Amino acid sequence: MSLESFDFNNFGSNVFNDAVMREKLPKSTYNELKRSIIEGLPLKPDIADIVAEAMKDWAVEKGVTHFTHWFQPMTNITAGKHDSFIVPTKDGRVMLEFSGKELIKGEPDASSFPNGGLRNTFEARGYTAWDCTSPAFIKDRTLYIPTAFCSYTGEALDTKTPLLRSMEVISEQAMRVLSLFGNTTSAKVIPTVGAEQEYFLIDRALYEKRLDLKICGRTLFGANPPKGQEMDDHYFGRIRIRVAKFMSELDEELWKLGVTSKTEHNEVAPAQHELAPIFDSVNIACDHNQLTMETMRVIAKKNSLACLLHEKPFNGINGSGKHNNWSLSTDDGINLFEPGKNPYENMQFLIFLCAVISGVDDYADLLRMSAANVGNDHRLGGNEAPPAIISIFLGEQLTDVLKSIANGDVPDLHASSILQMGVETLPKLQRDGSDRNRTSPFAFTGNKFEFRMVGSSASIACANWVLNTIVAESLSKMADRLEDAPDFDNEVKLIVKDTIKNHGKIIFNGNNYTKDWVDEAQKRGLPNLKDTVDAAGAYINPKNIEVLNKYKVLTPIECQSRYEITLENYSKIINIEANTMLEMINRQILPATIDYIGGIAESYYKLTKAGIDNNSMKQMLANLSDLTDKLSISANELEKLLFNARSLSSVEEATYYRDNVLVKMNEVRKIADSIEVITADSSWPMPSYTDLLHRV
Ligand code: ADP
Ligand code: MG
Repeated sequence: MSLESFDFNNFGSNVFNDAVMREKLPKSTYNELKRSIIEGLPLKPDIADIVAEAMKDWAVEKGVTHFTHWFQPMTNITAGKHDSFIVPTKDGRVMLEFSGKELIKGEPDASSFPNGGLRNTFEARGYTAWDCTSPAFIKDRTLYIPTAFCSYTGEALDTKTPLLRSMEVISEQAMRVLSLFGNTTSAKVIPTVGAEQEYFLIDRALYEKRLDLKICGRTLFGANPPKGQEMDDHYFGRIRIRVAKFMSELDEELWKLGVTSKTEHNEVAPAQHELAPIFDSVNIACDHNQLTMETMRVIAKKNSLACLLHEKPFNGINGSGKHNNWSLSTDDGINLFEPGKNPYENMQFLIFLCAVISGVDDYADLLRMSAANVGNDHRLGGNEAPPAIISIFLGEQLTDVLKSIANGDVPDLHASSILQMGVETLPKLQRDGSDRNRTSPFAFTGNKFEFRMVGSSASIACANWVLNTIVAESLSKMADRLEDAPDFDNEVKLIVKDTIKNHGKIIFNGNNYTKDWVDEAQKRGLPNLKDTVDAAGAYINPKNIEVLNKYKVLTPIECQSRYEITLENYSKIINIEANTMLEMINRQILPATIDYIGGIAESYYKLTKAGIDNNSMKQMLANLSDLTDKLSISANELEKLLFNARSLSSVEEATYYRDNVLVKMNEVRKIADSIEVITADSSWPMPSYTDLLHRV
């Protein structure tokens, strides 16, 4: 399979998309369904029956036997129970059936998914409800129906429900502002998202030999390799043949699923790559990102590779994130963050920009939380990824524009100029209004914002329902002011002025990786929530509960449950990692090291017997024996810590895991890694970093 051979008529061939609906549905049904999709109205049962029948016939023609309600519980991966279409007939045969009721509603057991105390096993019922705004698709002979997942009592148990709720909220508030600016053509505003996905590819056979990678997705041991990423020779480098084959097969699968994967390149770290799709409405972007991650894993396996989506698979090597490019667009295609030729005069743009600035400043803790998970804790704040402090990069030009308006001046626009490359034959390039800043967690990039904190394994849903809600809240306040203003133009200027005065502290155009910035941010009073345990608190911060409840994105009970889930997950994952570590030490590293020491001791004994006194061998033995002893003691201490980590509240437990277990794990790892570097390659019981990073 190669890229050239892909027949682009097959793009979306596994999707029940608009073209298929139009072809397979009676015109009136199609119109009703479209109206439901566009206006978010519930579908009438008789219409649902017709849609279900058409979906089933289309799917069965393509060899499909099963259907599933596909949903996104708070596990960062997707779930679904598979049912076949068969219904027995009286004469002992079967018919294939799929009713509107089955399309619209499913009833999985809710107690078996993370629910933060909302569901017990004795009150287990949960529901999935068809989300008709994201198209159904076919995968593995199964018809996938995107759904939202909630409990019997109606609480959201997934990542999609709050996202869908937040889309309505932002649309409503943005439309208020737009109509104040005289817009009469747009009917709604849609958040658009393009999620760039980073990942590692390593050899499958080597992966299978690492229990830590298989169980935890990251290496718990591994000394630094002689060559890491210091040569900067991987970024945008030539794509290896095996990787190119993987990428082309991946594209082909994704394209059939209607996922617009567009850009693929090597990333900074060895064995690290990135995929970027063309942006879409946030709900679809979110579903597509989940599909992308799942498909990556499968295609990697088919190619004898393993795809690592963990945020930090290797110590000392860059981790992986997800750049969540976010913007707002009207249904008739106007990007609300497009500054136009002269942002100074584009008052509507400035209002939307200010809404983002004040929303992000007011709810920086909530936005930080949206990117918090145990894997990402290893990444945020390191000198490779955005720090844990939220700030906004606007670029000098736009910052000047805002400041000038705030001061009542006309800005000196050193707008885009021509880039001189000093070679006459090269085309003259238009220089962008601002340089790139790769260190900012939240950067304005021309006509969209790029939120760079999200972890590579996480769902993008949370980051986006947070963004939608907090920006809606600022837009609502601004709309209130503008609606009552005696002088509209002047009020716009006052809003810009107030935004700079009250929220200017969130803007930072410098290098976010420096210690100076951390100090500066502290002076400015910006929150620095270093890890998941600290960040989770945003869920139960009264001001956040209030805004989420006000817009019905999450109820206070749902906030509390998500808080519990975040912390429970944190503790559980560290517990699994620590146990994996112990198993690897006790069953792999210690036995191997003891054998290795035995071998040296035997040689040393023979030499001594032959009358040769080898001092460095003796030293080696003493050293290895000492380290082995230390490793064994530390491992025992780790085991004790795990034993004591019981019957605490979720936040106490998570804090305990962070402050005790994680610290001890680092200690254990250091000792093991120092044994690795003085042990023969042939005696070490698992592939090294060099093997993993440089063998594809
Ligand atoms: P880079 O970050 O490398 O400069 P691009 O400009 O190619 O990247 O865009 C990165 C991502 O941003 C792509 O997924 C692209 O589709 C997405 N993107 C572009 N415009 C928008 C928009 N208006 N809304 C949301 N995402 C967008
Ligand atoms: Mg980018």
